[in-house]
Amino acid sequence: MRLANRTALVTGGSRGIGRACVRALVAEGAKVAFVYQSNQDSANKLVEELKGQGRDARAIQADVKDAERAGEIVGQLVDEWQQLDILVNSAGVIRDGLFATMEADKWRMVIDTNLNGTYNYCHAATRPMMSRRKGSMINISSVASEFGSRGQVNYAASKGGIDGLTRCLAKELAGRNVRVNAVAPGLIETDMSEVVRGLAGDRLKEIIPLKRVGQPEEIAAAVAFLASDDASYLTGQVLRVDGGLSLGF
Ligand code: NAP
Repeated sequence: MRLANRTALVTGGSRGIGRACVRALVAEGAKVAFVYQSNQDSANKLVEELKGQGRDARAIQADVKDAERAGEIVGQLVDEWQQLDILVNSAGVIRDGLFATMEADKWRMVIDTNLNGTYNYCHAATRPMMSRRKGSMINISSVASEFGSRGQVNYAASKGGIDGLTRCLAKELAGRNVRVNAVAPGLIETDMSEVVRGLAGDRLKEIIPLKRVGQPEEIAAAVAFLASDDASYLTGQVLRVDGGLSLGF
């Protein structure tokens, strides 16, 4: 197991890609806590599922937009575990709409959750990781940061911000042996992409070179790799995991 004796915090762990990351990190031997916002049933089910396998995972209710709470959560975990090795920022939302009529609340909700939420947890984890001279942060971006569609100005901006944050923070923390990377998924089968998948239907198979949407586990596999020592010489990268979608026609 590549992550034995490691500890990890995952945001957005109750569903979709974050949940797959929790499962993957636990399967690699890590002790994991995850943050969810409102879906307590789903969070509890995941904890029970993992306990049933004799694994250790903990659900924490919090809004990633809340910077103070991020500091409290990271502080408590570091106090208890004496270390935080891995941070995965997966919590995210979409609020699509054409820019001409986009109200400020849709813009702010997406930037505050996706970008500022990532800032909140990276910032809280930075000092503990720096002082141990060890750590891996993985931010879930999106290929939309480079290839966003009409109606996704807010979402693409939030993910472009995550890519920039990832690259600059990687440079700042490299001297302390803390690696910072991002994974940019293409279209993945989760609640978030349900509407898009419904609208696009079979056309997706023509657009995506691998002829199918991705599964959350395929993103989690990349995250587990980046979290592990297999990626010990990898920092500041935005790894596209998209079935070739971003290659263009
Ligand atoms: P999802 O299935 O909708 O799950 C979203 C997760 O984020 C849930 O666990 C949700 O908690 C949590 N969350 C949302 N807002 C939060 C907040 N303010 N505070 C704390 N937790 C919050 O989405 P997903 O598809 O797994 O997406 C995960 C990440 O991948 C996102 O950053 C997304 O932008 C990115 N991504 C997804 C795709 C795709 O095709 N699915 C493609 C590219 C990138 P609750 O369950 O409590 O609501």
